[in-house]
Amino acid sequence: MGAAQPLHILQTTDIAIESQRHRLAEIEASLGESEALIQAREAQQSAQDAFTKTQARLRALDSETKGFSEKIVQADRKLYGGTVHNPKELQSMEADLHQWQRMRSSLEDQSLEAMLRLDEERAVLTTQGQVLAEIEASWRQSQSTLQAEKSELLASLAQLENRRQQQVTAIPQAHLATYERLRQRFGHAVALLQGSACSGCGMTLPTGQAQQVRMSQGLTFCPNCQRILTATL
Ligand SMILES: [Zn+2]
Repeated sequence: MGAAQPLHILQTTDIAIESQRHRLAEIEASLGESEALIQAREAQQSAQDAFTKTQARLRALDSETKGFSEKIVQADRKLYGGTVHNPKELQSMEADLHQWQRMRSSLEDQSLEAMLRLDEERAVLTTQGQVLAEIEASWRQSQSTLQAEKSELLASLAQLENRRQQQVTAIPQAHLATYERLRQRFGHAVALLQGSACSGCGMTLPTGQAQQVRMSQGLTFCPNCQRILTATL
């Protein structure tokens, strides 16, 4: 095995680590409540608020209507009960009675409107509740899938880190330093010699140099891109 071979193997491990870390970051960003879920919950809450408000208004209207009905029954009884004989008093009682009847009638109209609105709001509330339930179910599903993938990735990353640790101990310090320096610069430090071309930059090496890559006991570098070259087996 050439001197560059262990570095190429290390590079394979590093590429896997990078890719898995990248995916892990994506998962971390996708965990937590989604915008769709937050919006659906807000829509459901505002539908609930509107419904509750109309319910309360309807109760208040009912109670007000009931108050007038009681007054009307009493006034009616008094007016036609024969106990009051003063015409002026009777006239005033009758005027009151008519006014209360008009007010009650107006309250009944308002109640009817409120009941119709309550029906509409109940329908909206039901729909929003279903929408929220669906979004929440699919969100839970995707969160649990992501959590499972995260666990797998963490386990796999731990294995890869461990493997890297072992691979590094078998590589001379100087080679490792060169590898890290080139990696910082190019992303990938090691290129393959494919035929006599560098896989890093595509340049075809002179036959002598390509031969040297295959035979050398030390590290050899692409004369064009400076990457460490290793021959394919
Ligand atoms: Zn090159």
